Amino acid sequence: MTQLLEQVGSMTIRTAPLAATDAFTSLQAALPAIASPAATAYSRGRRWLILARRITPFAAVHFATLALPFVLFSWELVAACLFTYCFFMVGMAGWMHRYFSHRTFSTTRWFQFVLAFWAGCAAQRGTLWWAAHHRRHHAFAETVDDPHSPTVLNFWRSHLVWIFEDAHQPSNYKWVRDLARYPELRFLDRWYWIPPILYWCFFGALGAAWGVSKGVGASSGAWSMLVWGPVLGTVLAWHATFCINSVTHLWGRRRYDTGDDSRNVGWLSWINFGEGWHNNHHYYPHSANLGFHWWQIDPAYYLILMMQRLGLIWEVRKAPLKAVEGQVRRAKPRPEHIERG
Ligand SMILES: [Zn+2]
Ligand SMILES: [Zn+2]
Repeated sequence: MTQLLEQVGSMTIRTAPLAATDAFTSLQAALPAIASPAATAYSRGRRWLILARRITPFAAVHFATLALPFVLFSWELVAACLFTYCFFMVGMAGWMHRYFSHRTFSTTRWFQFVLAFWAGCAAQRGTLWWAAHHRRHHAFAETVDDPHSPTVLNFWRSHLVWIFEDAHQPSNYKWVRDLARYPELRFLDRWYWIPPILYWCFFGALGAAWGVSKGVGASSGAWSMLVWGPVLGTVLAWHATFCINSVTHLWGRRRYDTGDDSRNVGWLSWINFGEGWHNNHHYYPHSANLGFHWWQIDPAYYLILMMQRLGLIWEVRKAPLKAVEGQVRRAKPRPEHIERG
């Protein structure tokens, strides 16, 4: 917290949304936030090494998308990309956000582990880390204690740079005591790279088998499947998720007065499985449905209902009519999840 305050202390706090040009030229301004050697006690060289280790996998996956024109093309590979993207987005929107961060439905302990593993495949760290930061975002939206407010920071810092900052590396268990009591979730949070690595290995093996069956060779099939599936799918799912932190706090319609800059961005909900109804969500965060009306498309919620029908989850919380009509007091995250530290 001290480090975060130090990092943003010298910045001007903006209360009005950034203009588009401001936002896209703010990347340069965002970089010193993670590159400042004064922020830690490390030597300059060691600090750059730590940052390189944090950033390299993220940059490498982006860089790997450049291999797309050099691998095979097939509609089966396009299907692998679509499947991966949808699998990751359901993991993030349905499980990481609506279950682990807001507990909008109940399930068994073993299925909770399945959901944590599923969400972990999207390579956005563990459920404890993600939920802790997200709960803090709701509690302190648009203040210096918000990890990724684009109006306090800037577009790029809220979109992705904040992930690499020192202050945001630990999973603060004080925010997620309800989740941290499960050792299996703590394990997945500590070893968060295991689910994505296994997902990638599975697709590599699938690609090799596909390559042999098509007569193009195992290695050619494996590389093509990896680039179309996990590489492209991961990058697309990353930015679709990141847009919730950046875009939906800058541009869009504000249906409810939430005391922050959250907005509804309908077109984004088609891409990120309903998460674009962000103003609805900030107004009533305890609801599994982010789309409050039938015309507010919310695919993650439809899947939650399907899972409920299958008996895998239950006690799905839906926004009451009073909330839809804007007649409830602005909701805050439930107190048992929050212990300011
Ligand atoms: Zn938000
Ligand atoms: Zn939320």
